[in-house]
Amino acid sequence: MEEMFIQTEDQRAILDSVRRFVEDEVTPRAADLDAAGDKDPVAGYSTEIVEAADRLGLRTMTLSEELGGMGVDSLTTAMVVEELGRGDLGISVVLAQTLKIAAIMEKSYNEDQKQRFLVPFVEDPQAILSICITEPENASNYIIPYNTTLNTKAEKVDGGWIANGMKHFISNSNQSRFFMVFMQTDPTKPMSDGVSCFALERGHPGFTVGRVHEKMGEKLANNSELFFTDCFIPDENLIGEAHVGFKTLGEFFPSSNSYAAASILGVAVACYEKSLDWAQTRIQGGKPLIEHDGIRAQVAEMKMLIDASRSYIHRAAWLADHQEEGWDLTLGALPKVMASQAAWKIATWMMEIHGGHGYMKESGVPKLVRDAAAFLHSDGVNRTLLLRAANFMEW
Ligand SMILES: Cc1cc2nc3c(=O)[nH]c(=O)nc-3n(C[C@H](O)[C@H](O)[C@H](O)COP(=O)(O)OP(=O)(O)OC[C@H]3O[C@@H](n4cnc5c(N)ncnc54)[C@H](O)[C@@H]3O)c2cc1C
Repeated sequence: MEEMFIQTEDQRAILDSVRRFVEDEVTPRAADLDAAGDKDPVAGYSTEIVEAADRLGLRTMTLSEELGGMGVDSLTTAMVVEELGRGDLGISVVLAQTLKIAAIMEKSYNEDQKQRFLVPFVEDPQAILSICITEPENASNYIIPYNTTLNTKAEKVDGGWIANGMKHFISNSNQSRFFMVFMQTDPTKPMSDGVSCFALERGHPGFTVGRVHEKMGEKLANNSELFFTDCFIPDENLIGEAHVGFKTLGEFFPSSNSYAAASILGVAVACYEKSLDWAQTRIQGGKPLIEHDGIRAQVAEMKMLIDASRSYIHRAAWLADHQEEGWDLTLGALPKVMASQAAWKIATWMMEIHGGHGYMKESGVPKLVRDAAAFLHSDGVNRTLLLRAANFMEW
């Protein structure tokens, strides 16, 4: 399905190499890793795939050339992330998180922090990244956001901060080498004015990984709990000013939402292609399913939802980099809602087109259906994001 709005030769070259990467490295391994991840959540993760991505420059491509990246913009990154999602959702998420966090690190870290965190990230072909906000008691609370506080707290002491609390659901976090962590540093203020963002490396004293979550799908990515127990964080690890961590988070939201949307759109495309393939080969009533009008109309509706979601994502991703041209805050919330709803519909239609075969594991349909559900909740629950967008709208 060649429907991306490719505008430059550079974009075409990058996407061609991502397509080959998916064909050579991801597709041959995805079903086995998915099955392994079903038995043991850690086993779905593949270091080899991350290293292969690194060899192509894919792991670091959002960083500037000065730092060893390719200086790729948000629109091209969204296209890459979609192509990865077409191969496997988990791989798309592992790399999308890493790509967007690396870009924010470059934007918001000072020179010393770049030397201590970003340079070693670039040099380590296995290094991936995590952003840590969600806690058992706080998710929609910070997305809407409400005037509440985070439960993970860092208290000021001489030369730094002492952190206590926990995060959960964090993508990549049992595998990541570097982390951006949001903690309440002023307990008298709501999150918007009382949260700070800290840079941490894996193995930092007092900072440990907990349980790896057993998920329904997206098994090639890992998610886990993180614990902070009297964890001393030096002042040098504070990102930006104290208590205004939500400013850093605000820089993250614009492209983050379009990348999440692109990851799940990739799954929708995989479902569409699988449906089309089946509809062209399965014969009922003496002719292929695709020659029956009901099925043909269904396939057209799938294409419509994919095309419309992609246009929305591309517009949001381009405007995220050119905000003066008409960025509107709802674009940092709604494309993911649209693409994940589209993917969920398309996945269930794919199952229906496959009939009983679609319920059988060997068809590959159940994996795609489990993956398609992932972004109804990741990067913000859809209803929560609709509320966030509504709060930005004027009427
Ligand atoms: C696979 C996966 C990966 C993730 N990765 C990360 C990550 O890397 N980093 C990170 O920080 N977080 C991550 N998250 C967290 C994610 O971004 C969501 O915020 C979180 O999953 C929401 O979960 P919750 O159960 O706490 O929802 P809740 O906030 O408890 O919401 C529960 C329900 O209540 C609804 N609701 C909440 N408030 C309102 C309201 N005011 N009015 C009406 N309805 C409301 C919601 O829409 C939802 O339907 C991840 C989550 C998943 C599932």
